[in-house]
Amino acid sequence: MSVTPLISQVDSLNPKQLENIPPLLGASVAELTAWVQQQGQPAYRGKQLHDWIYHKGVRSLADISVFPKQWRAEVAEIPIGRSTIHHRAVAPDGTIKYLLQLADGQIVETVGIPSDKRLTVCVSTQVGCPMACDFCATGKGGYKRNLAPHEIVDQVLTVQEDFQQRVSHVVFMGMGEPLLNTENVLASLRSLNQDVGIGQRSLTVSTVGIRDRIRQLAQHHLQITLAVSLHAPNQALREELIPSARPYPLEDLLAECREYVAITGRRVSFEYILLAGVNDLPEHALQLAKCLRGFQCHVNLIPYNPIQEVDYKRPNSDRIQAFVNVLKQQFIAVSVRYSRGLEADAACGQLRASKN
Ligand code: SAH
Repeated sequence: MSVTPLISQVDSLNPKQLENIPPLLGASVAELTAWVQQQGQPAYRGKQLHDWIYHKGVRSLADISVFPKQWRAEVAEIPIGRSTIHHRAVAPDGTIKYLLQLADGQIVETVGIPSDKRLTVCVSTQVGCPMACDFCATGKGGYKRNLAPHEIVDQVLTVQEDFQQRVSHVVFMGMGEPLLNTENVLASLRSLNQDVGIGQRSLTVSTVGIRDRIRQLAQHHLQITLAVSLHAPNQALREELIPSARPYPLEDLLAECREYVAITGRRVSFEYILLAGVNDLPEHALQLAKCLRGFQCHVNLIPYNPIQEVDYKRPNSDRIQAFVNVLKQQFIAVSVRYSRGLEADAACGQLRASKN
């Protein structure tokens, strides 16, 4: 990743030229240092710039008071790459959903989820989503574009600033399919880890599975957590729920996940949405256990969160418990994730970049 093209003469730029300057957010301290030096400034200003962007939340270079006045005026128009908060909805459990407006006017959702000492941010990786999973609101609105690295990092900084609390965990479980945007997701992971200072083990990337991409991700040998949205214990049912599963059979997906474990030494999390009468019967749990036997993994059951377009139902708590019990009897590590933020339409599957 690079912050080039670099420019030294910025005062004569017209707006068209400014559009072509990549924002500074997402750049490493080395890249920022190279950039300030190219501007004729001493190297230590790179570290200062890094600190102001990532830790002081500066939104314009003109506001960096430790920089010489004249230079500040010269570079005032260089974009840092921050979004603006278009809308903010607080759920009774303290979860906050943000609609963020990007430089081109597109809107994405981000969710801040406080719990005990943690503050988790659920980030989007695309505007909309092309996967069209039947139970998910994001796919119903179609797909617009991939997010750039700075647009992903910005979501975390925005939540951190709004809560006035350090973000401890980031889950790539907002709008979009991260592995259709792998390069930018990897750049944002680097920046969240090295620039924002969040440990790799506190970063989770969730995917519905794109052929070869899990294996490619493994080659980067990251210590992040990979979560895979499974949702069905057999190919026929999975295809019904997830159209993209048709050309990518469950067997192949699980084989790639096994490779991921072998290469990275990290266990994989499997997400399994519970839809009453569809995939929540004890026989489904048994089948799931069979698929995952001997696998270093953890299953997260997500009881369905209602969306308007489809009439799936969330199973009652007895049914959920029965599903859990079968998995436990089969020695599968399992937990139930009741999504937070339901009342603000901020829960898993409810993100559609609208106010309600
Ligand atoms: N595209 C990625 C990232 C989205 S993560 C992926 O599929 O993993 C969002 C998680 O919430 C996924 O596991 C998704 O399947 C799940 N989800 C989608 N709609 C849901 C709903 N209505 N209720 C509960 N979970 C849902």
